Amino acid sequence: MSEYTTTIGIEVHAELTTNSKMFCGCKNDPHAAEANTHVCPVCMAHPGTLPTVNEAAIKKVRLVGEAIGATLTDFSEFDRKNYFYPDIPKAYQISQYAYPLVTGGEIAGVAITRIHLEEDTARSQHDQGAGSLVDFNRAGVPLMELVTEPVVHSAEEAGQFARELQLLLRTLGVSHANMEKGEMRVEANISVSKSDELGTKVEVKNLNSFKTMEAAIAFETKRQIELLESGRDVTQETRGWDEAKSKTFSQRSKESANDYRYFPDPDIPKYEFKNVEEMTSSRLAENMPVLPHQIRNKYRDLGILKEQSEVILQSSRLQPYFWSVVDEMGSGDAEAVRLAANYVSSDVLSLLQQDTEASLSSETVPQYVSLIELLAAGTINSRTAKDLLPEVVFDGIDPEVVAKERGLTQQNSAGSLQPLVEQIITENESVVSDVKTGNEKAIKFLVGQGMKLSKGTANPQLLEQLLKDSIA
Ligand SMILES: [Zn+2]
Repeated sequence: MSEYTTTIGIEVHAELTTNSKMFCGCKNDPHAAEANTHVCPVCMAHPGTLPTVNEAAIKKVRLVGEAIGATLTDFSEFDRKNYFYPDIPKAYQISQYAYPLVTGGEIAGVAITRIHLEEDTARSQHDQGAGSLVDFNRAGVPLMELVTEPVVHSAEEAGQFARELQLLLRTLGVSHANMEKGEMRVEANISVSKSDELGTKVEVKNLNSFKTMEAAIAFETKRQIELLESGRDVTQETRGWDEAKSKTFSQRSKESANDYRYFPDPDIPKYEFKNVEEMTSSRLAENMPVLPHQIRNKYRDLGILKEQSEVILQSSRLQPYFWSVVDEMGSGDAEAVRLAANYVSSDVLSLLQQDTEASLSSETVPQYVSLIELLAAGTINSRTAKDLLPEVVFDGIDPEVVAKERGLTQQNSAGSLQPLVEQIITENESVVSDVKTGNEKAIKFLVGQGMKLSKGTANPQLLEQLLKDSIA
């Protein structure tokens, strides 16, 4: 069955992090604990109310467009997408149809068709007792919709694309893009075909994690191939994902655009962007933060391991911190920069994992750099560096001063270590005879004893050499 090609187009909705909603002044807080607290006549669809456009949301969408090398359109308008549902009380959703804000561009090698802006719906709740309830806090939250070309051919590729998009949205500060919270929602249009012509596509909705998305694509590919192989047809429809059964299920036959009777919303002015300075490509480019691919290139040029650079990049707490560390260190001592990356991507990461509330303040960057330099110079050893690390990155202690105060400075001279060497030899006679027979483990044991006696301050390499010299 390997002669089938799977073709996937992806649609992503992301809630934008503006202060207020898309068409009214209500607070943009879709996850507010108490239902229906951020509502007004506009987002409740009272008759006679008029929308006012939140231009901060438009700017965020165009910023995404600029970041992915897309075309920012000169003209744009909002349309009414007509349908009734209890969570859409106007009986239409304000969206965009013929004239989106952005066309083209590319993310993780996947060509983008368009990005437009619409309003989120309210949230129906069916599990709260006898009837169904609707929470309008989410109604009217700005929602970005990004549509890709049908150019993705595997679940892995789709996963990679969605992860990269999430990272981009977070880097740009336009969305929290947390899939589990519904801040980023993915739909996949999946078809299989043996020829160059695309097969009948099936839309799979409600994919609320990367894992779910990958599983749904794999399942749907297999299901469609099995249908065709048994002589049946694939039905064009919308399917959901049943997490418990790990399979897709039919929800409804797919509406076509005609069913929605799109037409330009007469209550909203059209946009001519040419004369809006802050919406132009050049102005957006000026204020562009450093993008993921630029960060990757910089870390690669500094000789940082790819795995470490990804760990740092994917963490919203590590990335800004390490970026400042790199800045502070300059490109002078390449080895020290790599050491700094090593500690950030392992030891600092595990400190953050132990305390999910903890944050790294850029004010402690000079102290962290000092710690790395002391380590690189051999003034302190790795054990001491790890011991001091939490106080350095969270409290900003000066590691040089504190290491001296606490007697943690590494003993790097043969003279200062010689008494220790003699003590070890006297106290471990039988092990010393093992060393003489060439037992490698025995010498490591003696070094371990020396590290204990010196409270971790002996230079282990030097200590080993001195022990070998004395025993020989
Ligand atoms: Zn409102």
